[in-house]
Amino acid sequence: MATYQYDLVVIGGGPGGYVAAVRASQLGLKTAVIEKEKLGGVCGNWGCIPSKALINQAEKYESIHSLEALGIKVDTSGFDYRKVWEKSRGAADRSGKGVGFLMKKNKVEVITGTGVITGKNEVTVDGGKIITGKNLLIATGSRPRSLPGFEFDEKQVLSSTGVLSLESLPKSILILGSGAIGMEFAFVMATFGVAVTVVEMLPRILPVEDHETAAVVEKSFKAKGVKFLVGTKALSLKKTAEGIECTLEKADKTQEILKAEKILVAVGRVPNTENLGLEKVGVKLDRGFVVAKDYYQTDVPSIYAIGDVTPSPLLAHVASKEGEIAVEHMAGKGHEKRLDPMVIPGATYCEPQIASFGLTEEKAKEKGLSYKAYTFPYTGNGKANAIERQEGLVKVIYDAKTKEILGGHTVGAQATELIHELLLAKKAELLPQDIATMVHAHPTLSESIMEAARGVEGWAIHI
Ligand code: FAD
Repeated sequence: MATYQYDLVVIGGGPGGYVAAVRASQLGLKTAVIEKEKLGGVCGNWGCIPSKALINQAEKYESIHSLEALGIKVDTSGFDYRKVWEKSRGAADRSGKGVGFLMKKNKVEVITGTGVITGKNEVTVDGGKIITGKNLLIATGSRPRSLPGFEFDEKQVLSSTGVLSLESLPKSILILGSGAIGMEFAFVMATFGVAVTVVEMLPRILPVEDHETAAVVEKSFKAKGVKFLVGTKALSLKKTAEGIECTLEKADKTQEILKAEKILVAVGRVPNTENLGLEKVGVKLDRGFVVAKDYYQTDVPSIYAIGDVTPSPLLAHVASKEGEIAVEHMAGKGHEKRLDPMVIPGATYCEPQIASFGLTEEKAKEKGLSYKAYTFPYTGNGKANAIERQEGLVKVIYDAKTKEILGGHTVGAQATELIHELLLAKKAELLPQDIATMVHAHPTLSESIMEAARGVEGWAIHI
């Protein structure tokens, strides 16, 4: 029998790779992680963590204005965005160090360098050092997608990495794409006083979210002064001494030139599958993504792939969970074959926050399902009233006959935390009546979840 240096060699130390490595170590597998940049991946260094740190500072900045209602005058003249940026880099650094600590604690060997698969059980690092493993796990993640004519220079034409690197604020920014990344940066920029225009090709913003929850965010952003151009295509870009000029084609086919100091292109991501040696060993790709079957195994049984490099939702918690499923299978302990798409939460952390899982009302309709929807507004919630956060709602999509939960949607204060009660109910195959009859502490925003469940049962109290 062949012998290998490791039971598992992971390529990529992002939330997919490092979580898989910790889980593998817990299951007794001797594990190494190869990382060419910093542990924590995009999530820890240029994604989830630094962006949420910026949002946190933006929320604090916004909240100081509410003190004026108490007669307190706040002098913001000393405001320095560089300090905001430093906070976000600090959060990213702590995140990377935290992952380093976890690697040590779990006796996972970290190898710094670029890994290339040179055999079904072999990775070569930086063209020299050969590492062998009974199993290999591809967790190399993704990078920002640019558009032809809109190539990133990270000065005027920014990717998400470029906008996270800004040490000062532009006067104006054009954001292409109203998905989670576009909307989060729109929130940060608008809150700090930058003139923001968001351009979306589809007919409405936050296209993957339910129309009712997306409408709450749209109204709130418009009140902040954010301009939305939906059904609008970015055709071409010209760089000028002052910034950029973008030619747009609107829904009615007329063209408009929009000027801004910078443009952020947030229209998706591309998987990091090039120069990895995949084709040589027989790992199949589909439109650049690694094809992963059950247990996230590729066509080569000893090689698995997880996270952004596969065509599942490009989210950190998806990458981590896929990593857990893959290594549990390698260790002969796997029960789950793959993530059920109906129980994957998605969240956008702007204010108001928005979160969801399962079907939107539009999707349920499209599928021809016999469904019903119930919406409970935050205006009926005591806590939302007390904290002056009445913009928001909870929406449950359910089977018209059995009342099985088909989709959960929350928008408003703490929406990204609240979603999990509905999600647990869905995962545990509970029914709305189980939530409806559970005593919830008063006053909490969670009572909106209880009231929405009661609404499904026909007896919401506070409406
Ligand atoms: P990555 O995090 O991309 O990690 C891959 C790692 O592999 C990298 O460290 C890379 O250096 C390394 N690597 C690549 N090739 C090699 C090689 N050949 N050899 C060695 N190392 C290699 N998701 C959420 O769930 N919530 C959020 O709030 C959220 N916010 C985001 C905000 C922004 C601005 C962005 C850009 C993304 C955000 N995401 C969020 C998405 C999230 O960051 C990704 O889904 C997640 O990082 C994917 O994890 P991964 O492990 O698959 O890959």
